[in-house]
Amino acid sequence: MDEKAVLEELKKYRKMDLKYEDGAILGSMCTKPHPITKKISDMFFETNLGDPGLFGGTKKLEDEVINNIGKFLNNPNPFGYIISGGTEANITAMRVINNIAKAKRKNHKTTLIIPETAHFSFEKAREMMDLNIISPPLTKHYTMDINYIHDFIEDSNTTIDGIVGIAGCTELGAIDNIKELSKIAEQNNIFLHVDAAFGGFVIPFLENKYKLDNYCYEFDFSLNSVKSITIDPHKMGLAPIPAGGILFRNHSFKKYLDVEAPYLTDIHQATLIGTRSGVGVASTWGVMKLLGEKGYKNLTSECMDKTHYLVKKAKNLGFKPVIDPVLNIVALKDDNPEETCLKLRKMGWFVSICKCVKALRIIIMPHVEKEHIDKFLGALGSVKKN
Ligand code: PLP
Repeated sequence: MDEKAVLEELKKYRKMDLKYEDGAILGSMCTKPHPITKKISDMFFETNLGDPGLFGGTKKLEDEVINNIGKFLNNPNPFGYIISGGTEANITAMRVINNIAKAKRKNHKTTLIIPETAHFSFEKAREMMDLNIISPPLTKHYTMDINYIHDFIEDSNTTIDGIVGIAGCTELGAIDNIKELSKIAEQNNIFLHVDAAFGGFVIPFLENKYKLDNYCYEFDFSLNSVKSITIDPHKMGLAPIPAGGILFRNHSFKKYLDVEAPYLTDIHQATLIGTRSGVGVASTWGVMKLLGEKGYKNLTSECMDKTHYLVKKAKNLGFKPVIDPVLNIVALKDDNPEETCLKLRKMGWFVSICKCVKALRIIIMPHVEKEHIDKFLGALGSVKKN
């Protein structure tokens, strides 16, 4: 095939995809990347951070990005990587917890407290590392019951190696009480990992007027026991996929990840994925410089305003949210969410469903406009009438 024919053929496939700007993608935590990232992707498309000695400039950028994210997560000396996504970031944190536990005790199954509301990436980690997971009951706000955890650690003989708190859970946006978890972790010398894959680029930029009394919004390294945070630029950070982030409190955690990599320019490799593009790193660097704190604040406020708009209109139509919006995630109660979701899909609307409660799940990402919300609610209304 000649170049023209190849491109024409590819266009046909691309046309079969949905487009963010059409507003029908209402259940995704990804969005249209910032336009500058097209140019950046072109500039960095052949870079490989799997062999950082060959791409020293791109590696320097990665260190800067980690430091820049560290700044807004209250950590002046972070260690971390921009990797393939929240899944890899969570698995990386679980590797560290598992390797620390294994170094301390032989023949002990690494045991963690992880909420039911956690992303399924932890299930992958459990399976890969044969982890033992304890899921405490949830409060009515869909956060882990702190008293239960406290009592469990006091009363049981089980040694807990790690706790995972979620800062913006996938289905509802609820934020675990990381401040209290940090106290428990500190008293018992337990590693605390925070999954802020989604919330990490939202909570630091959330104006006070959007904050609810039932949640504690502190989640970052300013809390003593928080040792690692997952935070994904390819969600609310407007970077192109793949760009997930894992940050550790300091460089001392690297030794728990390193394996020997004799044929590379750096003789150790810490990331799960070997060969990896520098596009996510450079794009994250670029978008962060361009938007700055003010840009992310504006973006967050716009999404939150539209989220409240959706909830208000949905309530008027008789649909109740499971919780008031904590972040730009809405779960609307529904008796048969699977069926409603399928019917909506046939009408061209792509929402998703929750597992922890019977509800439809809608994410108000930057590409979702009020007119899309109006049309979607019209469709939802007609589905429920029939
Ligand atoms: N953690 C949370 C809280 C998420 O919401 C998600 C994805 O939605 C992930 C982890 C996994 O991220 P990814 O799909 O980028 O691997």
